[in-house]
Amino acid sequence: MAVERLLILIKPDGVKKSLTGNILTKLSEAKLTIIGAKAVKVSRELAAEHYKQLSDKPFFNELIDYIQGKMYGAPYDRVFAFVYQGEDAIARMRRIAGATNPEEADPVSIRGAYGRITTKGVYENVVHCSSDTSEAEREIKLWFSPEELTEEIYPTKIIDTTIKKKVWA
Ligand code: UDP
Ligand code: MG
Repeated sequence: MAVERLLILIKPDGVKKSLTGNILTKLSEAKLTIIGAKAVKVSRELAAEHYKQLSDKPFFNELIDYIQGKMYGAPYDRVFAFVYQGEDAIARMRRIAGATNPEEADPVSIRGAYGRITTKGVYENVVHCSSDTSEAEREIKLWFSPEELTEEIYPTKIIDTTIKKKVWA
């Protein structure tokens, strides 16, 4: 079995419901290593790029609002993003997360225990979990820069930039 990485997001419903600790405890059963972690206020651009394969779905706009935490507002309009690494990591984490539809998810999974379907029909299922290695690589590169990870898991390059950067005053 191969070492894999994946992106996990604690979605805004998980943040609002104070489930961060419970979710991390449950995920820790897989005995994987966290190699990146941060809080993110999700822009519309990031949300649309993250879910671009679902852009033709009727629920796409609601899904974008959901991952941005629009319905919860400050201070819950954020996600906690993690990169996990370990043997067979994707299948193991998806088992703990549970099926996409929280009504169909195993009740002892995270989504089965804590998810719901909104009146608009969106599955508020508490966590995002990459579903295969190529999706995981795309998502990790979208959400994290190389210096935000403790391991260099993909090839990097050095570029010269003239971009202005915010530093502590
Ligand atoms: N989703 C939804 N209705 C659907 C399918 C998906 O609201 O019929 C939402 C749900 O929040 C899900 C996300 O869109 O987590 C991404 O869908 P995907 O099929 O990739 O499921 P996942 O990989 O998250 O299990
Ligand atoms: Mg998916």
